[in-house]
Amino acid sequence: MKKDGGMIEQIRNFENASESLEISKVGRLSLLNNVNSYTENFLNTISTQKAYEKNGYEKDEMDEKLQLKNGTNTISEVLKILDERVDKMGLNPASGGHLGYIPGGGIYTSALGDYIAAITNRYAGVFYASPGAVRIENAVINWVATLVGYTGNFGGNLTSGGSFANLIAIATARTIGKIKGKDLGNTVIYICQQAHHSILKALKITGMEECIIRIIDMDEHYRMNLIKLQTQIEEDKKSGLRPYLLFGNAGSTDVGAVDPLLEMAAIAKRHQLWFHVDAAYGGFFLLTKQGREKLKGIELADSVIMDPHKGLFIPYGLGIVMVKNVQHLLEANNFDANYMQDTKAQENEYSPSQLSPELSKHFRGLRMWLPLKIHGEKPFAASLEEKLLLTRYFYEKIKEAGFQTGPFPDLSIMIFWFEPKNGDANEVNKTILYKIQKDGRIFISSTMLNNKFVIRFAALSFRTHLEHVDLLLSELKDCIVEYR
Ligand SMILES: *Cc1c(COP(=O)(O)O)cnc(C)c1O
Repeated sequence: MKKDGGMIEQIRNFENASESLEISKVGRLSLLNNVNSYTENFLNTISTQKAYEKNGYEKDEMDEKLQLKNGTNTISEVLKILDERVDKMGLNPASGGHLGYIPGGGIYTSALGDYIAAITNRYAGVFYASPGAVRIENAVINWVATLVGYTGNFGGNLTSGGSFANLIAIATARTIGKIKGKDLGNTVIYICQQAHHSILKALKITGMEECIIRIIDMDEHYRMNLIKLQTQIEEDKKSGLRPYLLFGNAGSTDVGAVDPLLEMAAIAKRHQLWFHVDAAYGGFFLLTKQGREKLKGIELADSVIMDPHKGLFIPYGLGIVMVKNVQHLLEANNFDANYMQDTKAQENEYSPSQLSPELSKHFRGLRMWLPLKIHGEKPFAASLEEKLLLTRYFYEKIKEAGFQTGPFPDLSIMIFWFEPKNGDANEVNKTILYKIQKDGRIFISSTMLNNKFVIRFAALSFRTHLEHVDLLLSELKDCIVEYR
């Protein structure tokens, strides 16, 4: 028996057994080469990959190979599993042919930002831990807030996406409105039928679904009807209720409609409502001339959310919430803990952890900061201008092809459908949609509007170009030959 009871030997044994977690220089190069050839192959073949592969949905396709058993695999074995069991199934958001839901993107320079952030693993939650990482997050927020038109004492936070950003804004609104449990039944919320369901979800999570929720009718452009809104607010006031929260859409998911934000902001001001704008989809069109026109008034909102993983083509995992008065965000989120006492002395910038529910967080700022530093904002603006024009082009061409359309698109989403001479229009349009999806080169999706099945066109990927839109047009024309 050794003097230390063998403790040192045991420590060394465990050290040796976990050694494979620290990869050698040669090992790293080999891993990186393998990964690089996988991603290079993905990118080099992207234009011939399908936007949608309708497979992988069967229960028995929940593959054994994906389960984590206690064994080791080489990187090439793992990449083969990814290739077969992940990257050839379902939607391919990296494809320019993705014109459904809200398309994503996934620019390469952002992936490199993620790679660096994961290697250096800077602690981005607290200024004390990484002043640089927090300054980068704040620089990103400043850039977006400036785009919105916020000046002065605003604050923000980088989130995992739009849903979480909405949740933070709504929780903040509740705190600032001092809405306690006893006040819920007396508080009124105004929302449009076209509001994204993540807002209703956030109202539920924050306990605010117990408020009175007024669903305000839309006008013929699927924008909030201001007359109805004002009448409702006045009625509610007369009945002794407290109108408090107003939601505006800056690009609705179904039809891409932008609410009359300027007028809504004025109504909110007059009645002292918290005005929240959901610009998850449409926000980055502020980089375009048409977008700035349409989104006028967004700068007057008390809170705004946007999704860089939509309109800025960043890979999934990035939303942003901005609040006009940073003190509001702070009041709703700031907590102290004894063990954090050392962090206070050095602070002259807000920490993300003071402004959101998260503490430890991914160094999210880098995945947006790096691309903007490298490319500048011009190519992003140009790509968004291109999407606006592609949508107008599609709007004109699809009409010429004999389809019906919804209103002239505010941004880059629009709806259309075919009205057959005989038969059930909904069924016919479903058949058309499924045909396009089955082909898979282009992916489009649908929605229900006033019990009508309509097909959606949504252009937002930086990889979507004229040839994708022309391909979709020719596929759609082929689909309706039999109904003519
Ligand atoms: C996508 C979207 C959301 C939700 O954002 P996620 O990033 O998917 O969580 C909210 N509102 C609108 C208008 C959206 O388009």
